Amino acid sequence: MAIFTIARRTKFFYYGNKRGFVNGNDMDDNDSKYLALAIEKAEESVLAGGFPAGAVIVSDGVVVGSGISVGNLIDDPTAHSETVAIRDACSKLGASDLTGATLYASLQPCAMCLAASVWANVSRIVYACAKEKVSDDYYGRVSLVVDPDVAIRLDHVSEMESDVVSLVEKWEEMQETSGR
Ligand SMILES: [Zn+2]
Repeated sequence: MAIFTIARRTKFFYYGNKRGFVNGNDMDDNDSKYLALAIEKAEESVLAGGFPAGAVIVSDGVVVGSGISVGNLIDDPTAHSETVAIRDACSKLGASDLTGATLYASLQPCAMCLAASVWANVSRIVYACAKEKVSDDYYGRVSLVVDPDVAIRLDHVSEMESDVVSLVEKWEEMQETSGR
């Protein structure tokens, strides 16, 4: 229901390429605001020693969960920023069903996070940086096996893409400096 409302409303406020659309999807008025929060979480993740990815989950205009990507520090390969944000939101809401919620991610979610979003009934995913903009290594071992058109509306809003690419490059420099 909410998705139809948003789609209808944004037709009157179609931003086109001015706001950085690439997929031709309608963009919600608040997408930029919440994507910026996801990118802040990605910066927080790098500062904590994790991977340059961050995510927030928004339901009814409220941030109900957030996550950084520090699976390397807590010995949990399933702890990506998106799965951490889903767990955070479900824990705070006391529910396993996030119908109506939107997941905002700095980087395009991997297959695991996309599937986790489907299991959580996340209604929409918005991401800032497409996987083509970063190394294949970040996605290489699992291709996108979930057809997002079936279950989740997946929107790429590219206006902050260069910020995410810069952060990833900064992180890669840090990896080199630390001798990895
Ligand atoms: Zn992931």
